This record gives sequence, structure tokens and C-alpha cells, in this order.
Amino acid sequence: MRRIGVLTSGGDSPGMNAAVAAVAKTARYYGMSLIGIKRGYNGTLCRSNSIADDMVELDLDTILDIADQPGTFLRTARCLDFLKPEMRAHAVNNIHEMGIEGIVVIGGDGSYHGAMELCELGVPCVGIPGTIDNDLAYTEMTLGYDTALNSCADDIRAIRATSRSHDRPGIVEVMGRHCGDIALKAAAATGAEICVVPEVPWSIQEVSDRLCRLYDAGNHRATIVVAEGAWDSMQHFEWQKYLIEHNERAHVDSTISTNYLAKVLRLKTKTEVRPTVLGYTQRGRQPSAYDSWFAFEAGNLAVNLLRNGIGNQVIGIKDGRVYYMPIVMALRQKREFNLGLYNMINSL
Ligand code: ADP
Repeated sequence: MRRIGVLTSGGDSPGMNAAVAAVAKTARYYGMSLIGIKRGYNGTLCRSNSIADDMVELDLDTILDIADQPGTFLRTARCLDFLKPEMRAHAVNNIHEMGIEGIVVIGGDGSYHGAMELCELGVPCVGIPGTIDNDLAYTEMTLGYDTALNSCADDIRAIRATSRSHDRPGIVEVMGRHCGDIALKAAAATGAEICVVPEVPWSIQEVSDRLCRLYDAGNHRATIVVAEGAWDSMQHFEWQKYLIEHNERAHVDSTISTNYLAKVLRLKTKTEVRPTVLGYTQRGRQPSAYDSWFAFEAGNLAVNLLRNGIGNQVIGIKDGRVYYMPIVMALRQKREFNLGLYNMINSL
């Protein structure tokens, strides 16, 4: 292969730039040119006024400058048009016209579906799991998860310090719409006493009972770590009650939910409970050494796979080592939730 492309798609994650840099270094090593495709699959559709806003030849020096920066230099975005077969055919024409012979796709499971479609249309792709959620079963860690986790742990420790000073409990909401891994590990890492996640049904009553028990046992500054998607696993009748009380029909913003939980717990436990929603700080940090290492090896492996004619693969970590497997098999794997750790946090 003489020319390959690279794109970042879906939600941004720390380490995306580092992965692009590793791809760029490896491509240079093999004398291949590298095209940066902008804003996920949007760039392949070439709809901007200038081609430079869609696909540009990447200059290694520029890329090395941003390798350790958070965010993604290539930008990222959803591209709903890419779900349409006729638009994908149009994208493949543009890819051929640019002389791109293979693409490294850095993103989550949605982006992997897009990569699979491109492979079927004759454009070999290799995926790198760029998402903080850690929701891909085939890999022990996704790229950005370690950084997000450390960011949450830092923030939760800070919140726990002030909770301790004032002898009052705190609720911290972290990211994770369908996957509670960030909440689970962040809770375990910081010694938080209660954790709620989307994978396990829970109720406000349970949480408040546990909080009261902790209070009676002398712990007046417990921390409750909540994954943002946990609102969906809250027992239905409580949710319904909340929606009726607030005359809400549609999806309720999770900030309201966290504040609501704090309000109810305040009433039930008769103690001040302070809510904090951590939000995007988790996605915008400089990548940890672990994520930068993973990005480096993954970017290198991705280029090597493409130049050896091996497409339709995704890269992950297994037994602490970087490896690859077919996209379709990776997407078929089912995530196993660590219920043992969950029970440990919520019972000790
Ligand atoms: P993530 O990659 O983080 O899971 P999304 O689910 O938003 O993020 O997917 C990112 C992009 O991948 C979508 O905006 C779309 O362009 C592309 N994509 C997702 N699913 C498919 C699909 N089934 N076929 C083709 N492209 C897809």
C-alpha cells in the first residue's frame, strides 16, 4: 500500500491524537503517505467547500506536536448520512479518487459498524477502540478509559476531601450511558461506599437505606458514585413517580436526576447531600501513560496489518498485550459485568 487514511469517529477520547501520531510515524517508516479524514465519516463524503476540510495529507511534524494533547486534531462527529448505502458508495468513490487504499478507524462500536461496511465495499479498514466507556467486550481496555478513570478518581478524591471536612455525603455522577465500568472502578479506587450502574437494577430506597446504615455506623461522609446511564436501571415505579411529579414526558436530563437524587436522599436521611456531575472533564484530559502506550502500539499494528493486506480487523488488549481480531467477531462478544466488585463496593 502506498497511501492510507485515518479518521476519528464517535465521541472523542484521550489518546486519539496519540494513535494518529503512531499511525503517522509507522506510515512514514514504510514510506506510505497518510491522509487525515476530518470529522469522522463526514470527511469521506467530501461535502465541504474546501477539500482541506474533508481530507488532507498529514504532516508528521504537526502530528507529533499534538500527539500528547487531549481531544482529536482530526475532529470527530456523527455522520448519519453514512448509514445510507448510496452515501457509502459515494464515500468509497471519493476514497478511491484520493488514492486511499486502507483506513484506520479510531472510534467505538458504531464506528466499527461503519468500518465493516467500508470493508464490504472493498476498502480494508482496521479499528482502534477510541472510547472512554470501556464498553467493547473483546478488549480489556478501550483507548481513553484509563485516562477517564484517573480523571474521575482525582475528582472523586477531591470531593471526598471536602465531604470529610464537612461530615456530609456526596453524590458524583460519572460518564457511562450503557456501561458502568468507569463508575465501578472509580468507586473502588476511591473507597466510595455506594455505586450505581446501568447494569444492575437499583432503587432510591436501597441507596438511602444504605446511606442511613452508614450514617448510624458513624460514616457521615459517604460517597455515592452514579454512572449517567444508571437512571435507566432505576426501578421503574420511582422513575414514573418522578416524571409525574415533575410533569415530564420526555427524557430527563441527567443533571436533574442527580440533583433529584440528592434532594430525595436529603429528605430521607435528614442530612445535607451534595451532588456533582463530572461531565466532559473526563473526556478532555491529557492521555495517561497507559493510554498513550496503547495508542502507540495500536497505531503501529494497524498500519502493519493494512500493509500486509489484513483488513476488517480491530485492535484490543488481551492478557495485557495488544492483539487483533476480526471486527465481526469482536462485535459479537458479550460484555461481562463485574458483579463481584459491584457487590464488594456496596456491601463492605
Ligand atoms: P461510536 O463509534 O462512539 O459508537 P456512534 O455510534 O455515534 O459512535 O457511531 C459513529 C458513526 O459511525 C456514526 O455517526 C455513523 O457515521 C457510523 N455508523 C454507526 N453505525 C453504523 C452502521 N450500522 N453502518 C454504517 N455506519 C455506521
